[in-house]
This record gives sequence, C-alpha cells and structure tokens, in this order.
Amino acid sequence: MALCPANLRFAIGTIRVVNWPVFVLLLYKSHEFLEEMSENRITQVIRVQIPLKDGRDMAPQHVEWPTEWGVLLALTLPADREIYSKVRLNKIIALLQRDGFPISNRFYNSVMGPMDFTIHGRDAPLLEKEGLISTDEKPMRNKNPVTSYRLTDKGLGYFQQKYSCIIDSLPYKPLFNATMDEVRRSFHMTTSEIVDRVHEELMTQVAPEVLRQRMMAVAEMLERTIGEVERYHDDSCPVCVEVLGSSEFAIKSIKKAVEQGLDNKSSGKNMVYYNSHQVLHWAQKLARHNHVTDVRLGDDGLSRLRMAICYRLYCLEENAGRYGIAEPIRDESGLSVFLQQQVGGEI
Ligand SMILES: [Zn+2]
Repeated sequence: MALCPANLRFAIGTIRVVNWPVFVLLLYKSHEFLEEMSENRITQVIRVQIPLKDGRDMAPQHVEWPTEWGVLLALTLPADREIYSKVRLNKIIALLQRDGFPISNRFYNSVMGPMDFTIHGRDAPLLEKEGLISTDEKPMRNKNPVTSYRLTDKGLGYFQQKYSCIIDSLPYKPLFNATMDEVRRSFHMTTSEIVDRVHEELMTQVAPEVLRQRMMAVAEMLERTIGEVERYHDDSCPVCVEVLGSSEFAIKSIKKAVEQGLDNKSSGKNMVYYNSHQVLHWAQKLARHNHVTDVRLGDDGLSRLRMAICYRLYCLEENAGRYGIAEPIRDESGLSVFLQQQVGGEI
C-alpha cells in the first residue's frame, strides 16, 4: 500500500472533520460496555455528543440505554403503535439492532429467529408496570392467543423526551431513517414471512459449516476487492481509505467470529456475517470510484455510496463490539490508523 505519511495525515484530518465523530462518540470496549447497573438490569452506556442549536457542541454526556428502550423504539414504528406477538416484537428489535441502532439486547438463534428472553420476559412487564406500554391477549382462531404490545401515550411522551434527541443525533441519519421505513414496511408481512426473511438474511438456520463457508467466501471477495482498490487507488483520496478500512475491518470481524466458533446459539456471528456482506456489496461498487482529494468534492453518486459503506461499517462495528467479536475502530483512531495497524506500518 502506498499511502505516504503526509497523505495519511491529510486523510485522517479529512475523515475527522467530515465523516466521523461530529455527533456521536461511542465507547465500545467489548467487555466493558455492558454493565450491571442494578439488579438484573443490563445497560449499555454510550457517550453522546449532542449539538446545540447555536452550533456549539455540548460536552459529551454518558447516556444509559437500558435494554427496555429497544421495546419502546420498536413500538414507535407502527402507525397504531402496536405489535402483535412476542415473536414479531423480538424480530423487529433484532432487525433494528442489526441495522445499527444501539440496542443492548443479546439475541440467540431460535427456531423462530433471533430471540432475547428479556424482551418479553422482563422488559415488557417492567414497562407495563410503569404504564409505558400495555399488553393484551388476542384470541386467535384455532391457535393459542397471542400477546399484543402497545405503546401508551405516556410511553410515547417518555420516549420522545428521553430518546428522540439522541436518535436524531445518530450519524448517517438518512440511512437510519431508511432502516426505520424498511421496518415499517415489514409490518405488512405475516409473522412467518418476517421469520423466513430474517432466517434467510442472517443465515440463522444453516449448519455451522455452511455459515463458515459463506463467511469465508465473503472474506475472500473482500480481499479481492481490496486488491482491486489498491491497484487503482490514489494516495490522497479519503474514499480509498474508507473502502480499504471498511473491508479490512469486515475481514477481521469474520475471521474473529470463525475463530470463536460458529457452533453456538449467539446471533452475534450472524449480525457480523450480514453486515460484512453489506460492506462487501458497497466496497465492490466503490472499487473503481473517481478519486477525490476531499470528500466534499465528490458528486451525489459518490456521496451516496460513501454514506452507504460508512453506515454499514458502523452497523458492523456496533454488532461486532456488542457481541465481543471485534473491537470497534471508530472514535479515537479512525480508519486510517486502523489500516496502518493492519498492514504493519507500511502506509
Ligand atoms: Zn479513491
């Protein structure tokens, strides 16, 4: 790789100013970010920098994200603020986590897709007790009754007061919005359609060896894409750094997940597989881009692709960190430093 130190410094500066930590600084240390805040309550603590209206930034604040917040977020999405069945509720929250929302639940793969018992076994009853949601048993013809979960007016007010401004400050906002729209569309699907879709996208029902082969195939294609980018890359182009860094991190995450073993129920490896595959998708599209010296100089097409790969890297980092698979690379170091470490200081 031939990024010289001067260009590297430039690239770091560009990324820092334009791309990375303007709004949100996330503290993810795979073994530290889940803390027992009180009895039986797992809380993800994230440092968030909320911009003020006059343009100044507030000092970063530590914000607690109790697992219950995932239930509240999911219930804000349907027009009637109601989700039928614990299976659907679990699936919706798993999709939101997969697609980058800081949801601290730990899912495991079950016959009905990713599940976390705390969602329906502890969080929902707790929220109901506080009057933030209501539940109801709906009779079903020829089937067992299902529980419906509904966000109350009090719950909506609580959510808006506590979480809305933080969600608004997430990076790549248009893509987080698109994710929420995609989830809203899934409310038109039957429960079994949603389960099938999640199984297929996350490969949650295949044998460990099949998943390993798929993951290694993605890693191999990422290696090939890196080779292509390196052949045509420009020393001063920050987009090249983004594509190379994202691809390297995806390979690293896949290899770590495989090393840890795939013969377990945790959904973490599946989240890593899905997001690495997505990184590959965008890296391939960006392999032959028109180089720029400043990301602000790219055209709309390049901007969209950049945002897509950076968002997917973000989702991958979230999940790799959450499930203890790979240490995220954002915040202090950034992609360039990560790249430098991966290639042994050659750049
Ligand atoms: Zn480039």
